[in-house]
Amino acid sequence: MLIDVHDHGIASPDEKNKVACNYCGKEVSGFYRLKCHLGHLRGDVKPCEQVPSNVKDLMITQLRENKRRKLAKEADQSCHTDIPLKRNCSASAKNTSKQADLEQIEEYVSKVKDSWAVTGCSIVIDEWEDDKRRHLINFLADSPGGTI
Ligand SMILES: [Zn+2]
Repeated sequence: MLIDVHDHGIASPDEKNKVACNYCGKEVSGFYRLKCHLGHLRGDVKPCEQVPSNVKDLMITQLRENKRRKLAKEADQSCHTDIPLKRNCSASAKNTSKQADLEQIEEYVSKVKDSWAVTGCSIVIDEWEDDKRRHLINFLADSPGGTI
C-alpha cells in the first residue's frame, strides 16, 4: 500500500519549504523531513509523538523502499561504468603481452651479448637514406650468436 506524505502534512502557505505535521502540528522543512518525522527516522528532525502506528509503519516501508531503489539505481549505474573498466583490462592485457615481447627480446639480446665474450663481434654500420633524403645509420653487432 502506498502512502502519500502530502496527505499527512500541510505545506505552509507562507513559506514553501515549511510543512506542518497533521498530527502534532510541528513544522518541518520539506516533505522528505516530514516523512522522517512521521517514520521516526533518525535525522535532523524530531520524531512525531502523535503519528498513528500504521502511518508510521507505512512511512518506514516507503523510506526503506526509496533507499532500496536508490541503491539499486546506483548499482545499475556502477554496472554501466564497468564498460570502460573492461576496456582498461584489455588494454593492460595488451601491455602485458608487449611487456612479454620486450622481455623475450631482452633475453635474446643478453644471450647474444654473452656470446661476444667467447666469439667476439663485429660492428656493422649500415648507412642509408630514406625517401625523404633523411640520413639514417643502423649500428649492428654481428656475431656467430646472432645479429642485434
Ligand atoms: Zn508530527
